[in-house]
Amino acid sequence: MSFSSLLGLPAGLQVLSFDLVNKVLIIQVASTACESACPVCQRHSSRIHSHYTRKAADVACGGRQVQLILHVRKFFCTNRDCPRKIFTERLTAFLEPWARVTTRLSQEIEAIGLATCGRLGTRLGSRLSIGTSRTSILRRVMKLATSEADEVSHLGVDDFSFRRGRTFGTVLVDLHRHQIRDLLPDRQKETAAAWMKTHPEITHVSRDRSSEYASAVSAGAPQAIQVADRFHVAKNLSEAVQQLLARVLLESKTASQGAEAATEARGGSLLPIEEWRPAQEESVKQTIATRRAERQDRYQQVLAWCEQGLTSQEIALRLGMKARTVRDWLHKGVAPDSRPRRKYRSDFDPYAPYVLKRWQAGEHSGRQLWREVRFQGYSGSERMVYRFLETLKTKEIVTSAGTPRLPHYTSRALVWLFMRHPGHLDEIEREDLAAFRLAHASLTTTYQFVQDFLQMMRDREGARLDAWLTQVHESGLPELQSFAQGVEQDKAAVQAGLTHPISNGQVEGQVTKIKLIKRMMYGRAEFPLLRQRVLHAL
Ligand SMILES: [Zn+2]
Repeated sequence: MSFSSLLGLPAGLQVLSFDLVNKVLIIQVASTACESACPVCQRHSSRIHSHYTRKAADVACGGRQVQLILHVRKFFCTNRDCPRKIFTERLTAFLEPWARVTTRLSQEIEAIGLATCGRLGTRLGSRLSIGTSRTSILRRVMKLATSEADEVSHLGVDDFSFRRGRTFGTVLVDLHRHQIRDLLPDRQKETAAAWMKTHPEITHVSRDRSSEYASAVSAGAPQAIQVADRFHVAKNLSEAVQQLLARVLLESKTASQGAEAATEARGGSLLPIEEWRPAQEESVKQTIATRRAERQDRYQQVLAWCEQGLTSQEIALRLGMKARTVRDWLHKGVAPDSRPRRKYRSDFDPYAPYVLKRWQAGEHSGRQLWREVRFQGYSGSERMVYRFLETLKTKEIVTSAGTPRLPHYTSRALVWLFMRHPGHLDEIEREDLAAFRLAHASLTTTYQFVQDFLQMMRDREGARLDAWLTQVHESGLPELQSFAQGVEQDKAAVQAGLTHPISNGQVEGQVTKIKLIKRMMYGRAEFPLLRQRVLHAL
């Protein structure tokens, strides 16, 4: 193996000698090519005019900086029609004509610049035996050309924050190539429109619900179909539903407060008859307690890893759980199953009020009461009747005052119950949901509207939107009506969102990438530099 191939020099360059001077490896290299092409007319010439040397820094070798002394030549151009009479020898891909740094060293410095930036880059460079300065690193990063040529047909537009969330920029994503196409320094409609004007090939633009981006697309890419991003539409819907639920919950709370106050005034040992359940065996109690403690431990672990920045997917892998369960727990923000277990429903329940009445009237014989309820149609065990009587001996059971007791939910948690796919709810959640729907007619209607809209969204049935809007307008539910009004103002785009498969889903991931790059830059993210680093991220 020759020295020149050991150093990775291109064919036509030969090592003459090397020497170590002040810790720098000085390598004398001669060009052995017998001809070179004229840069103007491209004709090859072998007529040598003169010899000269040029210096170029090269990539480090064995931890030492390398300085190449290149012995090269000047040639006569043999083309009589060419204006260039004499030209210098070209070493094209290896060394640009007037460069003092080889192309491969230049690429290393760019990589350092993109990965670290500025002062830190200089320190890293010196560790890697690459002599460079902060300004030269920045200059190189800023010089990198961005690929303007690629056409983009499906564009995703969203905003992102830089400089501690006080300033916002716009991120433009090529939804087909899953690539950030550009960053804009603000979220003004003029800026985004100007960018889109230079891309007349855009056919679809996926955007949020803001009027700013809507008018940017109208002005900059009037030919494109605007698609309101489904995530943003669903978010708007959930906000409307939360307002509605908050209102209904408040109304029902005010209504039931009177009844509850009456019950509470009679002391804490009162047990509403709906909450009665047979006492659990000791071993069952223990099993339940153990499981609950285990789940609680898991939940704490999930929280800890989430704070460390692990994704739901990674946490799920570590704990051997489903990623969806992890997300659910994090979304609910409470320890799973920390609510008291819902009452166990038994065949006896419908007969409990009767037995209670007889007990209060003085009939305390279990056998007798069992006979009586059996006569009324009870087909369960005698034991269950005795267990109910056991409870009556220790607690005073009361029949409730008419208003149905609802499970405790905040409007925020309840929205989640309303918005989720019914098939993804567990048994307790389904029961809770049913309780709310039964309690208020308006909640039944709301639930149907919400699920219908979400189904339209899942199955891309945008054609049904008009019918849905009409029904909502006639529903008398003010919060949903104002959501529908918002949709009307942006109907074409929302309908497109409910019809076309494209979405901004990936844009969020790209914004996360921008955040990571920004963080590595230690807050020195001047916009043009940030843009370069995002577009050239490794
Ligand atoms: Zn020429």
